[in-house]
Order: sequence, then structure tokens, then C-alpha cells
Amino acid sequence: MNRLDTLEQEAQSCQACPLGASRTTLVWGSGNPNAEIMFIGEAPGRKEDEGGLPFIGAAGKNLDEFLRIAGFAREDTYIANVLKCRPPNNRDPQPSEIETCQHWLIDQIHEISPRIIVTLGAFATRWVLGKNTAISEAQGKVFKHDSYLILPSYHPAAVIYDHSKLDAFYGVARTIAKL
Ligand code: URA
Repeated sequence: MNRLDTLEQEAQSCQACPLGASRTTLVWGSGNPNAEIMFIGEAPGRKEDEGGLPFIGAAGKNLDEFLRIAGFAREDTYIANVLKCRPPNNRDPQPSEIETCQHWLIDQIHEISPRIIVTLGAFATRWVLGKNTAISEAQGKVFKHDSYLILPSYHPAAVIYDHSKLDAFYGVARTIAKL
């Protein structure tokens, strides 16, 4: 068993915050442990909470199109979330939940050690770049952080409701294709 699998096994019994009691399934993350590119979303939604995998609902379809444009098969990437458990009714993650949960994500990043990290939406972007970061300002840019290239993007669920963000969303995928 590799270290990521061991961590996942530990996480499966996590009750460190109240979301542990309300979740159906902990959504650890999925993909290639040696991925060149890692995606960080916000938190599992209803489908993910039921199915145990990230981005398997409507937002996942937009992420799949993003991946196609960027030139990656999903199985060659690693996809995780800031929170591993679904907040009730998909409410925003609380600062205390992020604080409590983040050690899992830090371990995932260290184990995978991707070249490129794409932060999907405001929560993941602020978690990586700092709490005052505006997603509308940061998305579309390329940041360098230690050995990582960080590319913030609008969240794939946000573009379902706001088509004015679609160009920018797929623009990040086109940038990745050229990196
Ligand atoms: N939204 C997220 O941020 N992550 C998921 O896994 C699904 C929807």
C-alpha cells in the first residue's frame, strides 16, 4: 500500500469536525498518485457524498471538458478537495472546517508533488494564495509557489449558472495545454 492509500484509510474514520457525523461518504480524492497536474476543488457535493469520488456530478462534466481542452485524461490527473466531507446543503466551508481538514490536503500535495496545481473556485484559490485573493483577479494567471505552478480557475459549478465565465474557465485549460 502506498502512503496515499495509508492516509486515505486513516481519513476514512476522521471525525475531527462536525462534518464527519453528517457525511455519507468521505471523498478523499482520486487519480494518479504520480500525476503531473492536480486539481483542488472546494468540497464534495451531493453526488460525491453518495459516490465517494470527486466531481462526479454536473460540475464534473465541465471539468471533463476542461481536461479535454487541457490535453489530459482524468486518470492521468489527481483530483481532491479542500474539504473531504460534504457541508450540509452545500453551504460554504467554515474557516474552522478548513483549518481542521487541511492537513490531509497538505499531505496529498506533498505525496503527489505535481508540477501544476489548478485551484477550482474561490475557496481552493484562497487556501493556496491567501485569504484576500479575489478569484476574479487571480483566475487566468500563472503563479509560481515553491516548485509548483499554480493556476486559479473559476469553479466548474460556477460556470453552469454564469455563462459569462465560460471563456475564462476554458481559457485556463488552453493555458495549461501550452505549459
Ligand atoms: N464541487 C467541488 O468543489 N468538489 C467536488 O468534488 C464536487 C463539486
